[in-house]
Amino acid sequence: MSIEEYLRRVPKVELHVHLEGSILPQTLLTLAERNRVELPAATPEDLREWFTFRDFAHFIEIYVAITRCLKHAEDYELLVYDVGKELARQNVKYAEMTFSAGTHHALGIADETFLRGLSAGRARVLADFGVRIGWVFDIVRDAPMERAEYTTGIAIDYKDEGVVALGIGGMEKGYPASEFAAFFERARAAGLHSDPHAGEHVGPSSVWEAVRDLHAERIGHGVRSIEDPALVEYLAEHRIPLEINPTSNIRLGVYPDYASHPLRRLHDAGVIVTVNTDDPPMFNTTLNQEVELLHSAFGFEVETINEILLNAARHSFLPVEEKKVLVDEMIAEMARLGEDGSGEG
Ligand SMILES: [Zn+2]
Repeated sequence: MSIEEYLRRVPKVELHVHLEGSILPQTLLTLAERNRVELPAATPEDLREWFTFRDFAHFIEIYVAITRCLKHAEDYELLVYDVGKELARQNVKYAEMTFSAGTHHALGIADETFLRGLSAGRARVLADFGVRIGWVFDIVRDAPMERAEYTTGIAIDYKDEGVVALGIGGMEKGYPASEFAAFFERARAAGLHSDPHAGEHVGPSSVWEAVRDLHAERIGHGVRSIEDPALVEYLAEHRIPLEINPTSNIRLGVYPDYASHPLRRLHDAGVIVTVNTDDPPMFNTTLNQEVELLHSAFGFEVETINEILLNAARHSFLPVEEKKVLVDEMIAEMARLGEDGSGEG
């Protein structure tokens, strides 16, 4: 089979993807109709166009529209279910999805409502598609501080329902990690992992802070670490992986094009890299497409791409035993697919 086909079929793990930003146009239309919310588009095609990234203000407008369509537990359940189905289509075995609980809370949705929906959706995705989901509840840096407090509490309370880590996103500039150190301290003491966004809109200083102040075990984005050789060396030496989202970086103007994107240079310098989507329909991408870029835009051969895909499994926050099973399954499936290829010539 062709390398393109192999990459579509190969097993994958995704570590950086936002649940709200993964909503499919069709799901949003269904939810808008169900809850009588007016949207600026009435067909999946028009909605897909409205969804496509223009600028940050438009991006926020879409995010708000999505959250307004989520009112009942069944809505959250449908969102998770449809996203899970899309993951299964791309042979994603496991995904750690970010969910901004504080935003839903601030919009007046009861904890019970979204928690019940997330759990029901997650269970059905596992039962129907065999795809596992873990949650990263994230603090929004530029939201009021009491929401950070709220998010930390609910992430800890919900640990047995699949929350694996505390994250932090939103405006990087002007909201340094140090202000959130106490929340991460509490989360870590309760057994959650630390998975902050950093080094996307702010340079290396932001990644250093995430590492020092939040004890980051992985970095969401982190691409701008490339600007500081000492940081690159530190990340490589301490085996702190980066959750890289190439198309998101280009749509948001972090880099002008794939040719100037540092993924390959970070990898070649020994940093553990993974490839992810961030907000797939909004950036008009899929995980399959991002994986394909590893070949077409970044020039990696299949062996290296397999290693990058396995990085995501190896550095996921699954319990050690489950992680081992997942990695072994992926290696076996990669070998089978590889053999199929040579068989067909
Ligand atoms: Zn993100």
